[in-house]
Amino acid sequence: MTVALLEAWIRVFADLIAEHRAYLTELDSAIGDADHGINMDRGMQAVCAKLDATRVGAADELFKLVGMTLVSSIGGASGPLYGTFFLRFGTACGPSVALSADDVVKAFRAGVEGLVARGKPELGDKTMFDSMHPALEALDAAVGIGMSPGDAFNTAWQAAIRGRDDTIPMVARKGRASYLGERSAGHQDPGATSSALLFEAAARAFES
Ligand code: ADP
Ligand code: MG
Repeated sequence: MTVALLEAWIRVFADLIAEHRAYLTELDSAIGDADHGINMDRGMQAVCAKLDATRVGAADELFKLVGMTLVSSIGGASGPLYGTFFLRFGTACGPSVALSADDVVKAFRAGVEGLVARGKPELGDKTMFDSMHPALEALDAAVGIGMSPGDAFNTAWQAAIRGRDDTIPMVARKGRASYLGERSAGHQDPGATSSALLFEAAARAFES
């Protein structure tokens, strides 16, 4: 996968976030402070503006730009969380211009580990980790049996969707939603929803 293809993934993610901005904010209005769509869209629009003005050479440069921009342009918890994900993703890629599917799995794993180091989410806490973790495991298994990147990410996206839906009955134990205690149950987590879009974007960008 070339850097151009990885950049295409980021831009498709920005498009999906823009498209689902109102929906993500609506989900956050039920168990948070009604800004997740606004936060993510502001961050991803800032990322696209920087990409338009920059010629990124290598993968580490691309993801450093994405991560730094998200950290600096998003006020909410999702800024440092997604920011750390992309910064670690980039460090794992190193200065290469083309990555194998195995390299991309390693980068995803490093990114998710960064997210965990930053937010300390555990499975079942009703966070973005509840969709990211099963998606990563599905991706790893799919690449391991030799699926094409498009098919592997499609499989990962389906796992992310199941993980996202599984957050509905959960009682939140991290972030603002945790202030609601039991009342957070019955609502889909906004961050798990945007994370499923991250895998949908990859499935779309890497297909064929
Ligand atoms: P804020 O909560 O500051 O308003 P956002 O609304 O942008 O930030 O993001 C909320 C999302 O962030 C939640 O739906 C959840 O998925 C995720 N989140 C919050 N805290 C954590 C954490 N400690 N670890 C992982 N994810 C978290
Ligand atoms: Mg919020």
